[in-house]
Parts: sequence; C-alpha cells; structure tokens
Amino acid sequence: MRRQRFVSLPSRSRLGSTSLILSLLACAAALGGGAPAAYAASKLHVIATVGDLGAIAREVLGNAGDVVVLAKPTQDPHFVDARPNLILDLNRSDALVAMGLDYEVGWLPVLVKGSRNGKIQNGSPGSIVASTMVPLREVPQQRIDRSMGDIHPGGNPHFTLDPRNGARIARGLAERFGNLAPENRALYAQNADAFVKRLDAETKKWEQRLASRRGTPVVSYHKSFTYLEDWLGLVEVGTIEPKPGIPPNAAHVAELVNEMRTRKAAAILQERWYPSSVAESIAGQTGAKLVLIPGMTPDRGSYIDHLEEIVHALEAAIPARAGAGAGK
Ligand SMILES: [Zn+2]
Repeated sequence: MRRQRFVSLPSRSRLGSTSLILSLLACAAALGGGAPAAYAASKLHVIATVGDLGAIAREVLGNAGDVVVLAKPTQDPHFVDARPNLILDLNRSDALVAMGLDYEVGWLPVLVKGSRNGKIQNGSPGSIVASTMVPLREVPQQRIDRSMGDIHPGGNPHFTLDPRNGARIARGLAERFGNLAPENRALYAQNADAFVKRLDAETKKWEQRLASRRGTPVVSYHKSFTYLEDWLGLVEVGTIEPKPGIPPNAAHVAELVNEMRTRKAAAILQERWYPSSVAESIAGQTGAKLVLIPGMTPDRGSYIDHLEEIVHALEAAIPARAGAGAGK
C-alpha cells in the first residue's frame, strides 16, 4: 500500500510561518487550550536521512507533519552524495531524524552545519538519533579507528531491518515529535500505536512464514543483515567484504568460498546498491542463491511493504529446512 497524501513541497515562507505557528501554539498550550487528539493543529517539517526512517516518521506524523528523505533509496547510506540542495531541505526543517552510529558521518555533518538551522544541530531537541531507541549489536569494546576503513566504529547501524526495532523507533519518534509540538503529542502517540499494532501483526506473520528457514547458513556482502538474521534465526557464515566498508579481495573470497562449502551456505544476501559481480561468482562456485535485497524503503513507500518485499525475497530464495519450524 503506497501512501501518497503527504506533500513535501516547501513554501518559501515556511520557516517563518512555522516559527510563528509554533509560538502561537506554545501560548495556547500555556493557556491550557489543548487540541483534540484527532486534530492536527500544526505541522512539523521533518527530514529523515534514509527511507526507513522517513517512512516510519510519516506514519507517526500522520497529517500533522511532512517528511523529506535525504538519501535516495538506491544509494548506500554510508556514502550519500552531499548535494547542496539537501542543505535547503535541512534549512527549512523542524527536526532531523538520523540513524546515528556514524552511519551518515561521511556526508551529514557538513550538510547540517551548512543548513545554519539551530533546531537540528547536534544536541538540539530537533536532532533525533534513532540508534538511541534500539538495542544495538556489534558495539566494539574499544572504539575502532575509522581511518582503518571499518565503517561500523560505534556498532552495527543496520537496525531497521528488524521490524521490532521499527516499532521502537515509531514510539521514540512519537515522544520526540511530541516534545517539539506538544499540541500534537496525543495524535503522534495515537498514530504510533496504530502503526505498531499493524507492524506487530505483520511481524508475527513474517516469523511464521520464515520459521522453516531458521538455522539456515547464509553469507552477506556487507555486514548489514545482523539484525535481520538475529530476528529470523538465520546463521551468518561470513561476509564478502573482509571488514565493513573494505572491498573484497581474492584471498578473502577464496577462504569464504571454502567456508560456505563446508557449512553449506544456502544464500548470499546483498543490498541492490552493491556491485553484484563478486557475489554472482561466489554463487556460481558454491551453489548458494544470490538474494538481492532492496536496501531502504523507497520514497513515499511504506516500511511494512518494504519488509514484506524482503521477507518475500528470502522465502522465494531459501528452501525450507526439513524438520525446521515444526509446531510454529
Ligand atoms: Zn554498514
């Protein structure tokens, strides 16, 4: 189901009028006049760095806000082209929702600084970091030096591939958006509840559909499926990149192919934004199926539809395991 009703065209005077509306609403709130939950008294203009966060933010905002997503859904969010027009979007925003954990460190800080928008600078109420809302995986005991090439120095940032984290983020955003626009607090909480209810119901169905794949050995291109694998009980045998962000080399690939043969890896998971030639060659050598995964929710798409697409791709590519998933 695609949602088309959110228009993100910024008006030229939006920055000024938003501040005015927010001030008026702050006065109204101080006087004790709260808007009923179903009525959107004001709109928050939100920027999300990536499609998953944009889609979840849209669910929470409902008709009380709009969302612009910075990274294209076809772009690896680790390496987004910091185009100057993104600065304009940031300049006009009330809030910025980012993944954090240095996921966007290569391109976002320069844009945020360039936006000269005090509302979204680090530490401002409008600067919202999703990684603070979820339990993290692969957090190094000691901070890794990024100059060594590892692009997961603060832990694994690919947490939106577990829908249970999507639910946590929706609730976290409702709280933070509610702080920014208190007159909409009840509405945001209601929207988040409704979304989480739908997401939970789908999550149970996805788990049932893939229960017979639990325990399947798989490989991934980048270390981006840790949360997805933990959620679905897939077992990661290795990654094509020797370290997150380091391109594959022949010696590492040869070792990986051996390991995949020994452990009978059934599938290679890879986001569509990575080159597929190495994975195709490994698939040819090992018989593992290459599963191309859409990396992020497409623009204006729904997070639930996006996860459905991923579950469907896994279901189609990975055979059921004999005896697995019984009783589910
Ligand atoms: Zn990564």
